[in-house]
Amino acid sequence: MLSANNINRKSWIKYDSNSDFPIQNIPFGVFKTNKNNFHIASRIGDTIISLKNLEKYGFFEDLCLTKDTFQGKNLNKLLKQNKSIWRSVRNKICDLFDLENVQAKELISKENILFEHKKIEMVLPVKIGDYTDFYSSKDHATNVGKMFRDPENALLPNWLHIPVGYHGRSSSIVISGSPVKRPKGQILPKEAKIPIFSECKLLDFELEMGFITGQANKLGDTINIDNAEEYIFGLCLFNDWSARDIQKWEYVPLGPFLGKSFNSSMSPWIITLDALEHFKVAGEKQNPEVLDYLKFKGNKNYDINLEVLIKSKTSKPTLVTKSNFKYMYWNMSQQLAHHSINGCNINAGDLMASGTISGPNESEFGSMLELSWAGKKTIKLENGEERKFLQNGDTVIMKGYAVKNNLRIGFGELTNTII
Ligand code: CA
Repeated sequence: MLSANNINRKSWIKYDSNSDFPIQNIPFGVFKTNKNNFHIASRIGDTIISLKNLEKYGFFEDLCLTKDTFQGKNLNKLLKQNKSIWRSVRNKICDLFDLENVQAKELISKENILFEHKKIEMVLPVKIGDYTDFYSSKDHATNVGKMFRDPENALLPNWLHIPVGYHGRSSSIVISGSPVKRPKGQILPKEAKIPIFSECKLLDFELEMGFITGQANKLGDTINIDNAEEYIFGLCLFNDWSARDIQKWEYVPLGPFLGKSFNSSMSPWIITLDALEHFKVAGEKQNPEVLDYLKFKGNKNYDINLEVLIKSKTSKPTLVTKSNFKYMYWNMSQQLAHHSINGCNINAGDLMASGTISGPNESEFGSMLELSWAGKKTIKLENGEERKFLQNGDTVIMKGYAVKNNLRIGFGELTNTII
């Protein structure tokens, strides 16, 4: 039962009607206080709810939770439990903060459970095991193929048959707010045959979404596509920072390496797949027909508006692109089914990213590489400054939200500044 999704529900915590975090959202994250105390948390409006203390004071005693699920520094203990547990926690939190629940309001208000958004600092919510990055937006893959290979055959022959992906680096995934240091590496200058060692000159963002998994399959087993959503805990905004010049020189034949592994950043709140249930839509019809293990039933895409803004040292934030998660050609269920079809095990706390999400129109491209068409065009900021790629001091802000029937479920912001 998804009682937490009841759109008529109101909370005794007050929040704006355009908040990303109404009582129907109930995201999961981790914060620390100025005394370095870590709390696993949720959020309604701008009020942060310590799940650590709710558990400590016995509010979850009627749930079948593993002991001390919320006493650690990350969500992994919760992720190891199954979807019915995740669902029972979210439903329970909604019940406790429901406008009608006067008794809970009285009890909770007496204890040290609610925190002001401004007084805490969000930290990485998950101890990420493995990080996989897919390449599942057809428009993005087509744009890159047109720019770097053959405009007539932009997609490689495997692309329409396989959710293409690669194994990324989890150690350098950081939270919103962390600075991103411009990387250095090998670059092949134009017309040159020998590379130079240089600071990256073509630093880029990639607008992506990531999903966090629960405990899925044992080594040697596969995930059936019909059950794949059982193993998806929730989603975040994801910026897969890219050094295009380093990437271009290194990526043949084995794919991205140091051009990607210097940093990826994620938004602090994980929005559960359950909270996004209202926003399911059909994806593009897949043609050619996919192999049986990739065939799925029902709508598996999600209508989530995505925006990227750039703020320089002197400019205000300028909207540079608007895209949508619904543009994904390969959906998350297909990605998980494909990832495990060889018997590879998916663990609690793995992160899978979508790949850059571009839409069909120029105003919907998900990277500077595409927006500037490999440096041939310029992007204007609000104060007249121009960009082809990112400069030091630039702040990249990503936003995501879904809206339907007056219900808004948002992701907050993913904000990082280049140093
Ligand atoms: Ca990527």
